[in-house]
Amino acid sequence: MITTYGLTKSFGQHEVLKGIDLHVDNSEIVVLLGPSGSGKSTLLRSLNGLEEITAGGFEVNGIRVDAGLPTRARAKLIRDIRRQTGMVFQQFNLYPHMTVLGNVIEGLLTVKKMRKDEAVAIGEQLLERVGLKDKSDAYPSRLSGGQQQRAGIARALAMGPKVMLFDEPTSALDPELVGEVLLVMQELAREGMTMLVVTHEMKFARNVANRAVFMADGVIVEEGSPDRFFDDPQQERTKRFLRQIN
Ligand code: ATP
Ligand code: MG
Repeated sequence: MITTYGLTKSFGQHEVLKGIDLHVDNSEIVVLLGPSGSGKSTLLRSLNGLEEITAGGFEVNGIRVDAGLPTRARAKLIRDIRRQTGMVFQQFNLYPHMTVLGNVIEGLLTVKKMRKDEAVAIGEQLLERVGLKDKSDAYPSRLSGGQQQRAGIARALAMGPKVMLFDEPTSALDPELVGEVLLVMQELAREGMTMLVVTHEMKFARNVANRAVFMADGVIVEEGSPDRFFDDPQQERTKRFLRQIN
């Protein structure tokens, strides 16, 4: 579960998020849409503590972080949130010197201090789930972009997250590799994962998401069911966005 309370983020004088109130229920799939520079990545990064918010607050699985907390108190809360949150970025961010399996189990070994054989068993299971069982001993540079991104998803899942944040996970991929990554995400959604997804894949947004949230200039302009959002947008800003991407 994710809730934000008037979440505000400035970089210097530039207010990038202007009081965002967003809610993602357990097992809900919310897609976050909006033009470049509207603050989508900043919002996701804030939820994972990669950005420090300026005002307001947010809650992930009952762990609440408000702006202006003392550094150490904030650090502890962010650590707790990261234990329950998987994040997948546009860039795959795999460790190039580790095999695919090594990448997937790294967190289990170093953060969870799991025994190697246990970690390997979990890692192999996850690689099977994302269709990469035969690539476990390969190095990332030998994988296609789609395979690397699926490995990245397996790595995020290894930590047993309750929430997954995706920031344009398919944007760096050749078009023919997009589908295999979306399929893995769709499977996750079907299994009941809570997901907040920034994407330009409108078919995914329409078919998989429970709700579409449209942001522009640091505010939520409109949200609704995907069908209503795409077929009957209410706001002029939304209509303009949808015209531009079609
Ligand atoms: P895109 O669709 O292009 O990924 P976005 O909606 O994810 O865009 P953000 O990356 O969140 O947009 O950026 C929102 C605004 O915040 C932009 O104007 C950007 O220049 C600014 N911004 C983001 N990160 C920083 C930073 N570290 N320092 C200063 N400004 C930043
Ligand atoms: Mg972005």
